[in-house]
Amino acid sequence: MNKFFAVSLLAVSVSAFADTPLHWAYEGQAGPDSWGDLSAEFATCKIGKFQSPIDIRNAVKANLPPLQLDFHTAAESLINNGHTLQVTVEDEDDFRLDNRTFTLRQYHFHAPSENLIDGKRYPLEAHFVHADAQGQMAVIAVMFEVGQENTALQPLIESMPKEKDHAVAIDKRFDLSPLFPADRHYYRFSGSLTTPPCTEGLRWLVMKEPVTLSAAQLAKFQQALEHSNNRPIQPLNGRVIVE
Ligand SMILES: [Zn+2]
Repeated sequence: MNKFFAVSLLAVSVSAFADTPLHWAYEGQAGPDSWGDLSAEFATCKIGKFQSPIDIRNAVKANLPPLQLDFHTAAESLINNGHTLQVTVEDEDDFRLDNRTFTLRQYHFHAPSENLIDGKRYPLEAHFVHADAQGQMAVIAVMFEVGQENTALQPLIESMPKEKDHAVAIDKRFDLSPLFPADRHYYRFSGSLTTPPCTEGLRWLVMKEPVTLSAAQLAKFQQALEHSNNRPIQPLNGRVIVE
C-alpha cells in the first residue's frame, strides 16, 4: 500500500472520531444484541445472514493449498481504541487469493477468541485485516493458546498505550512470522466484520493450527483490554466452510 492511501485511511478514521462516534460495547445496553438497533448504519449486525464469528465445524475438504505468506512488515502505531488493541502497519505484507492481491492494513486482538474451532474457544485470536485495490477484504485469523512465550508479541506488550484512543508510535521492524503457525493450512468461509457496522462479504481464513503465548503475555493483553472483546457466535445460515 502506498503512503497516500495510508494517509487517506488515517484521515477517514480521524474524521470518524471528530464526529460523535456511535457508542457500542461488548456488554450492557449497547452490547452485541443491540448493535443492529443502535443506528441504521449498523442494521447488518441484526439483519445480515453471513455474520461472523462462527463455530467452525464440518468443513468440506477442498484441498486448499497452504497460504503463501511472506513477512516484511514495519509497525507504525499501536492504539487501544477501547474495543481492541490494534496495530497499524506500513510496508504491508501481501498475499494472493482468488487472483487478487490482498494487502495487510492492520491487525488486532480479541480475548477470548471470537471464532471457535469444533466448539473450542481459545484465550486469544489475532485478526490480520487485508484489503485489495478494489476494497474487498480478507481477514486471516490466528488462534493463540497458552504455552511458550511469543517473541513477536513482546514489542507490543512493551509499547502498550496507557491511555485509550492514544496511538503510540512503534518505529520497529517486526518479524511477524511467530504470529503465524508453521503449517499454513486454513479454514475458509464467507463472513462479516465482527464489530459494527458488521459489513458482509469478507473472506475469512482461519489458520487451523494455533500459535502460543505465555500466561504472563496473555495476562498483559487481558489487562490492557479490560474486558472480553468477543462478539457471540453467529448462525451459519447454510454457509459452507472449506478446508
Ligand atoms: Zn477482529
